[in-house]
Amino acid sequence: MRIGLDIDGVICDFNHGYVKELIRANGYVIPPRVKSWDIKNDPDTWDYAVPYGFSHEVNEEVWKDISNSYSGGYFWRQLPSLLSRDDRKRLNNIMDDHDVYFVSKRPLSMHGATIEWMQEYFPHPHLTVLLSNKKGLIASGLQLQAFFDDKPKNLEDILRACGTTCACFLIDQPWNRDFNHPYITRISSIFAGLEELDRIVI
Ligand SMILES: [Mg+2]
Repeated sequence: MRIGLDIDGVICDFNHGYVKELIRANGYVIPPRVKSWDIKNDPDTWDYAVPYGFSHEVNEEVWKDISNSYSGGYFWRQLPSLLSRDDRKRLNNIMDDHDVYFVSKRPLSMHGATIEWMQEYFPHPHLTVLLSNKKGLIASGLQLQAFFDDKPKNLEDILRACGTTCACFLIDQPWNRDFNHPYITRISSIFAGLEELDRIVI
């Protein structure tokens, strides 16, 4: 089976590092709402910097920093994994039996840092990592049969490009809970999605 996986919000905990960077860019002044911010459960919007008291300027400054090939590498390399050690092992085993492609919209300048991070957490000899904002075209070109993402818009792009030939799975996260789509399946984990796919295919 050919499977596509997003990186941030699926296997990598982007929020963890991003919030730290927002606080740094804000001159280490923590807006009152952030003090009670439960990063794992609280963000409920894609523009979450602003509702929590950071300005658009601070948000933009952080994006500029983390997209810069000199200053951004450290940020992407030190992000924690969202998967437990056992689940990472499980995913590595899946890569032995299936074609797994990691597809992320991260800036291209972060390709090296992304590969280093991937090799640390997924030391598999055949690792394919693609950085592109054309997830629909990539899924269609690679004839992916399943794609896992935490961002509804990415899955809508894939659905438009592939129709129902690619099963679209939305990894359940606090920031995508207001989204529902008849052809996009919300699931708790990659493994739950693969089990569901097994049931449909066999
Ligand atoms: Mg994502």
